[in-house]
Amino acid sequence: MAPETQAGAAGAALPLPPMKWDAWGDPALAKELSADIKGLLAAALGVTGDAAPGPSAAEVVLRPSRITADALGALAAVVGEAHVSAADADRLPRAGGKSTPDLLRRRSREPQDAPDAVVVPGDEAQIAAVLAVCAEHRIAVVPFGGGTSVVGGLDPERGSFEAVVSLDLRRLDRLHALDETSGEAVLGAGLTGPAAEALLAERGWELGHYPQSFRFATIGGFAATRSSGQDSAGYGRFDEMVRGLRVVTPAGTLELGRGPASAAGPDLRQLFLGSEGTLGVITAVRLRIHPLPAVKAYEAWSFPDFATGTAALRAVEQQGTGPTVIRLSDEAETMVNLAMTEQIGGSPAVSGCLAVTVFEGDAEQVAARHDLTREALLAAGGTSLGEAPARAWEHGRFNAPYLRDSLLNAGALCETLETAAGWSDLPRLRTAVTEALTGALPGALVLCHISHVYPTGASLYFTVVAALGEDPLTRWGAAKRAAGDAIIGAGGTITHHHAVGADHRPWMTDEIGDLGVRILRAVKAELDPAGILNPGKLIPS
Ligand SMILES: Cc1cc2nc3c(=O)[nH]c(=O)nc-3n(C[C@H](O)[C@H](O)[C@H](O)COP(=O)(O)OP(=O)(O)OC[C@H]3O[C@@H](n4cnc5c(N)ncnc54)[C@H](O)[C@@H]3O)c2cc1C
Repeated sequence: MAPETQAGAAGAALPLPPMKWDAWGDPALAKELSADIKGLLAAALGVTGDAAPGPSAAEVVLRPSRITADALGALAAVVGEAHVSAADADRLPRAGGKSTPDLLRRRSREPQDAPDAVVVPGDEAQIAAVLAVCAEHRIAVVPFGGGTSVVGGLDPERGSFEAVVSLDLRRLDRLHALDETSGEAVLGAGLTGPAAEALLAERGWELGHYPQSFRFATIGGFAATRSSGQDSAGYGRFDEMVRGLRVVTPAGTLELGRGPASAAGPDLRQLFLGSEGTLGVITAVRLRIHPLPAVKAYEAWSFPDFATGTAALRAVEQQGTGPTVIRLSDEAETMVNLAMTEQIGGSPAVSGCLAVTVFEGDAEQVAARHDLTREALLAAGGTSLGEAPARAWEHGRFNAPYLRDSLLNAGALCETLETAAGWSDLPRLRTAVTEALTGALPGALVLCHISHVYPTGASLYFTVVAALGEDPLTRWGAAKRAAGDAIIGAGGTITHHHAVGADHRPWMTDEIGDLGVRILRAVKAELDPAGILNPGKLIPS
């Protein structure tokens, strides 16, 4: 299959993102739904038909570019003619992220929004000069990493400006330094997860950050969104790995992070971790790394119910027994996993609630941590399922997003949302969110899992599957509002790792209070006085 907007597409002047413009990932890996899943959709949701196909890239109508020839010329003078384009074939693949609403918008035959031009700078000096040109010509700038945002972080909003450009950071793709003594590497912001890991692996090192979007998302994007990967129990969230950052802002360039730790005032790195392109452009990140693990061990578990499994994960985390991965699916997700097994190489038949543990490191350590964890899980009511289901989970762990596209094609809406809270608040939070979602989308299937644990609490990750029906964007919008209100009402955070973007911005005042919002506005006014950086995201206006 040769989709129209993959590299080499007619009309494209720039190298295109490796991902299909209207679907997840590599088109070659697209999945047809199995008979089991089709049966489940028909029985649970009454979904039996196929959705109307969306337009091809050639049929999509983009609103015309508003960038002036003058501004385009000034940008080309900075980055070179070959690295700037206002062609529709370059604008379309940067028109947004990869949430389900993004995918539904891409399927529309009505005129669609897109950035007015795409600029691909080669270094920090060019980024600083691009920001100056944009401030002068009153152009908003949306930094673009891997394009995997699920919160509207890449929406091409102009705000009060004449035009908006997508600043594609793919050329910042170098391993700048690797310090084997300190266990640190400096990686360019535009490196994708696999490209970064390949550069480190050549030298025997690993970062160990594996979000489900790993194959396409970038180092800069991970930092800008406070991403969390599936190995977070072992290696921590991405923000915990960060030792230093370089950031270009319209007011100047910052290099932050000295030494392994510091008492030199508030930690300014934290201002840019999670800043989502609104305060500056992250160009390079100094990260804690570890030697490639010598061995891996796997064990899956079954728990009679989610409450028992949750208590078991809490025991493991609070005792610090040291799994690299630990996750627990609720009954519904465990059941759907069964139907998906042949589809994505997921976990084979399990009753109750499936938990997965993985251990990485040297042989002796892995054995010790595995034994301690096994003891804790047995004591908490778990039944071992051996290693096969855990290996199967790892094998299929990046494949599930492909199913979302097949579900959309079959007429089912599938979207995810996530939050986190203290262990004592988790049951109430889970109930509140589930009720909000099923209240707004009667009959919807709501699945939940825990995949990031802390001594004091954990994340909850929800997957919602419902009939697409009429006007799915409006229906999902209502469900998302109900879920967001339920999260805040039940004491959760509006996002544990997806970030804020445009979609969670309405809850930012609930999250950090009026004064907190005023602090963010004041920082933005200092760093980005013209306000060109990613308008409409993160900071309530
Ligand atoms: C199927 C799927 C699965 C996902 N799974 C996970 C998961 O397991 N864990 C997780 O944490 N997230 C997950 N996400 C969300 C998303 O992948 C993350 O938010 C990721 O960190 C974004 O990285 P990116 O390079 O794609 O950034 P983009 O999507 O390109 O950008 C995200 C935001 O950061 C800004 N930005 C990007 N690069 C820079 C930079 N260099 N400097 C300043 N601002 C920048 C953008 O302007 C935007 O606001 C998933 C998304 C999808 C679609």
